[in-house]
Amino acid sequence: MEVLYGSTRSRGTSVTASQAILQGLSHDGGLFVPDHIPVLDKSLQELAGMDYRQTAYEVMKLFLTDFTESELKACIDRAYDTKFDTADVVSFREAGQAYYLELFHGPTIAFKDMALSILPHLMITAAKKNHVEREIVILTATSGDTGKAALAGFADVEGTRIIVFYPKNGVSPIQEKQMLTQRGENTLVVGIHGNFDDAQTGVKKLFSDRALAAELAAGGYQFSSANSINIGRLVPQICYYVYAYGKMLRQGTIKQGELVNVVVPTGNFGNILAAFYAKNMGLPVGKLICASNDNKVLYDFFRTGVYDRNREFVLTTSPSMDILISSNLERLVYRIAGDDGERTKELMAALSGEGKYQITDNMRALLSDFYGNYATEEETEAEIRRLYETWGYVIDTHTAVASAVYRKYREETGDRHKTIIASTASPYKFTRSVMKAIDAGYDEKGDFELADELEKLSGVKIPAAVEEIRIAPILHDKQCEVDGMKDVVKEFLQL
Ligand SMILES: *Cc1c(COP(=O)(O)O)cnc(C)c1O
Repeated sequence: MEVLYGSTRSRGTSVTASQAILQGLSHDGGLFVPDHIPVLDKSLQELAGMDYRQTAYEVMKLFLTDFTESELKACIDRAYDTKFDTADVVSFREAGQAYYLELFHGPTIAFKDMALSILPHLMITAAKKNHVEREIVILTATSGDTGKAALAGFADVEGTRIIVFYPKNGVSPIQEKQMLTQRGENTLVVGIHGNFDDAQTGVKKLFSDRALAAELAAGGYQFSSANSINIGRLVPQICYYVYAYGKMLRQGTIKQGELVNVVVPTGNFGNILAAFYAKNMGLPVGKLICASNDNKVLYDFFRTGVYDRNREFVLTTSPSMDILISSNLERLVYRIAGDDGERTKELMAALSGEGKYQITDNMRALLSDFYGNYATEEETEAEIRRLYETWGYVIDTHTAVASAVYRKYREETGDRHKTIIASTASPYKFTRSVMKAIDAGYDEKGDFELADELEKLSGVKIPAAVEEIRIAPILHDKQCEVDGMKDVVKEFLQL
């Protein structure tokens, strides 16, 4: 059955999957949502026999219904190849009471590669299907990881350009160097003098700027998005939850139909929303555990029903979660509002006006699949140390937030279901913070020296992504104020 995509902020006017991918954001500023969540049409037993690419096809075909089988399979084959340093694409590690699903074996060592290695192929295919002649300009705001993963995916892809905005003082040294060393004539990296929310809000504003859209069209361009507001990012993220379940079944870790909890270190709410969609497709998922850092706006939301961004923005050691406006939550709000676009629009207007909104008790009752909690900086650091000392396993700061929150969840609820923790980045991406937790002499060492040290302590080889940037030249140096983003875009496109 065909799945069409409508906006979270209006009724009617649906587009196909390929059109939604091309457009990124709906014209009314809303996010595209599927008109229904398709149900898995393969049994869990069948899924357990599949490799990652086969699983990805089984999931994606149900959402991206205007792509042909050969188109979709070609995209999948190009995306999930030797760019990933493990044949399985993802990897599993049991430690303590949880299963760490390592989603960081792609080219930029964060889970963003899971979707951003396929998005360019989906987009090019979508452009062909829709006879788009104009060049596609990918506009992206990043809290550190999306930027590099999107750059790597779109660099030198014909018919596209990519512009990445990141908070100049809000990313890790390795994250920044990864972006600033990016090659590709069609790439531009810009540090903004503001935080991630400023970057994201600025990008959304450019998307809905009608005058700019007209100038772009005249210049032969059109915008699209590589942020998780794009349905072309969300759908590929559902696949690894289905794959993980199949793999646990195959290994005899769980019995068929057994509920498995999922813990996700959350920022923009994309990854955990993908797990929610997987559950709604029929995957036996128990609780969806939403882990936050000190920017615990989601924790407060799940506890009180009030979403309130009026608070201090905290820079933490898990920068990819330093977010106060979790864009994808809008998709969940739309859903618990009974797919009511008018209602969602009002709530989002309140968010951009007063900076907060409150959901009704009826809506809150529909959030029972979720549990929210947070970990402080001290708890996060202690969790890295604990896993290293007890299990010899080194995890990154984001995964540590999730791991610490999971311990709180177990204590609070006594729930002993098997649990997957989404491990979203390699510890090598946040070497300094990770080494601070486990190496007393970390302070005197440089970033790459620390990477060498981490290799000795963890026994895990330094990933190619880190080796590459050791000596790579800096190729980008552009910076701008928050209100100067539009000019930067126009200058790059010579408009
Ligand atoms: C992006 C990111 C997150 C947050 O994921 P969302 O989908 O934005 O909630 C968590 N950890 C890492 C390492 C990330 O890069």
